[in-house]
Amino acid sequence: MTTFETLGLSPALLRALSETGYTTPTPIQAEAIPLVLGGHDVLGGAQTGTGKTAAFGLPLLQRLAKETPAKGPRKPRALILVPTRELAVQVSDNLKAYGRHLRMNVTTIFGGAGMQPQIDNLRRGVDILVACPGRLLDHMDSGHAKLDAVELLVLDEADRMLDMGFLPQMKRILGRVPKERQTLLFSATFEPRIKALALEFMRDPKQVQVAANNTIADTIVHRAHPVDNGRKRDLLVELLARRHTDQVLIFGKTKHGCNRLAEQLAEAGLPSVAIHGNKSQAQRQKALDAFKAGRARILVATDVAARGLDIPNLPLVINHDLPMVAEDYVHRIGRTGRNGASGEALSLVSPEEGGLLRQIQRMLKAEIAMETVEGFEPSQPVRLDAPIPKNGGGQRRQPAGGRPGARMGEQKPGGQRPPRKPAARGHGKPQDRGAHAHAGPKQHRQGAGRPQGARRDTRA
Ligand code: AMP
Repeated sequence: MTTFETLGLSPALLRALSETGYTTPTPIQAEAIPLVLGGHDVLGGAQTGTGKTAAFGLPLLQRLAKETPAKGPRKPRALILVPTRELAVQVSDNLKAYGRHLRMNVTTIFGGAGMQPQIDNLRRGVDILVACPGRLLDHMDSGHAKLDAVELLVLDEADRMLDMGFLPQMKRILGRVPKERQTLLFSATFEPRIKALALEFMRDPKQVQVAANNTIADTIVHRAHPVDNGRKRDLLVELLARRHTDQVLIFGKTKHGCNRLAEQLAEAGLPSVAIHGNKSQAQRQKALDAFKAGRARILVATDVAARGLDIPNLPLVINHDLPMVAEDYVHRIGRTGRNGASGEALSLVSPEEGGLLRQIQRMLKAEIAMETVEGFEPSQPVRLDAPIPKNGGGQRRQPAGGRPGARMGEQKPGGQRPPRKPAARGHGKPQDRGAHAHAGPKQHRQGAGRPQGARRDTRA
C-alpha cells in the first residue's frame, strides 16, 4: 500500500501531515510526489478536490528544504501561479500547514489588496511566492519581485488562467524565471492550448492524471427542477425553506445576479452571503469564513469566484442557473458528496436552458431526473433539443484557440454517446417522476461541444 512514508517524504513533512489529519495519499499525490521529488517536470491532470495542492506542495517543500538558501534577503525559490486570490490564499495556507516544521516563508501576491504590505513581505524575504499573474507583474515591473532565483515553478489551474485571459502575463513571467528550473503544470483539461504551453515551457514532462474525467461521486443525487426563469427565486426560497437545516452553496451566473439573489433571500428571511469579483478581498474572505464556520447557512457564488474555495463537504449545492460550460457543473457539484458522504445537487432549469442541460447530461453520460415542483410548473416544457443560448448573461469570454473546455480523455463531440445510466437516485417526493429528460442520439449529434460564443466570466 502506498503511504506518505513510502513516497519518500521527510520526517518533518510526515509529522505535519499526521497533525493535519491526512492518513493516505490521494491518487494524484501517490503518482506525482515521487516524480516531483525525482526532479521531473510534471504535467498533472487534476482539479480542485483531488488533493493536487499537496501533490505539488509536499515535494516542493521537501526539495526547497534540502538546500540552504543563499545568504542575505531571500528571493523566491518557488513560484506558484494561480488564477484567483482565493486559490492563492488556499494554496498558501496549505503550504504553511504542510511546512510548519520547516522554516519556510510563504507569501501571497494578488490584486484587490494593498500593494505596500505585499512589498513589505517581499522585502523581508520569501521562499515560496504564490501569486496571481497580473499583480505579480506589477511587483516585477517596480523591481520588488525578483524571480532570478526561482528553481521550481508551478502553474496551478493553468486552464483557468488561460480562460481568464492571463496568457500574455504568464508568458512575460515565464520569460523572467531561470530556464534551469523544474516546472509543474496542473490543469483540469489537456486541451491543445495547455499542451502548447507545456511544449513551450516544460522539459520532457511526465504526465499524471487522476482517474476518469468528469466523474462525480456516485453518492450524489442530481435533480433538475423545471421552472420559468421569472419564478426561480420563489422556487429557491421554497426549496431552502424545506431544507432549513442544511448549509447550501448556490451558484448564479453573474455577479449582479448573485448580489441580487443574496439580497432577495435575505428579504425572504434567509440570510445569505455572496462572493464574487466585485467584492473586496476582505469582504470575500469574511463571507467565506462565515460560511465555513457555519455562521452563514447560505453562500451565493459565481463560478470563477468559487474556484479553488476549500469548502468543506456540503450536503447541498443548488444551481440557480445552469453553467454555460458543462465542465463547470462538475466543479460546482464537487463541493458535495466528498469522501463518500451523500450529497444533493439541484438545478433550477428554465425552458431556455434545456440545451445547457443536454450538454451537462452528455458530459456526465447520464441522465438527470426532472422533477416538477407543484405550483412551479413551467409555462412550456424544458426540451433538451432547445438551442443553447448564445450568451449566458453576457459575462463569458470565448477562450482563445483549441476546443476549449475539452477535458482529458473526452471524446470528440461526434464520438460522444448519449446518456445511458441514470445519474439520480432520488429519494425525495417528486411531483413528476415521469418527466425524465430524454435525449436521443440524434439530439446528441447536434450542437456538440461548447456553444458558439460561450464566454467565461472574466470578472468574477
Ligand atoms: P485540493 O485538491 O488540493 O484543493 O484538496 C482538496 C481537499 O482535500 C483539501 O481540503 C485538502 O486539505 C484535502 N486533502 C488533500 N490531500 C488529502 C489527503 N491525502 N487526505 C485527506 N485530505 C486531503
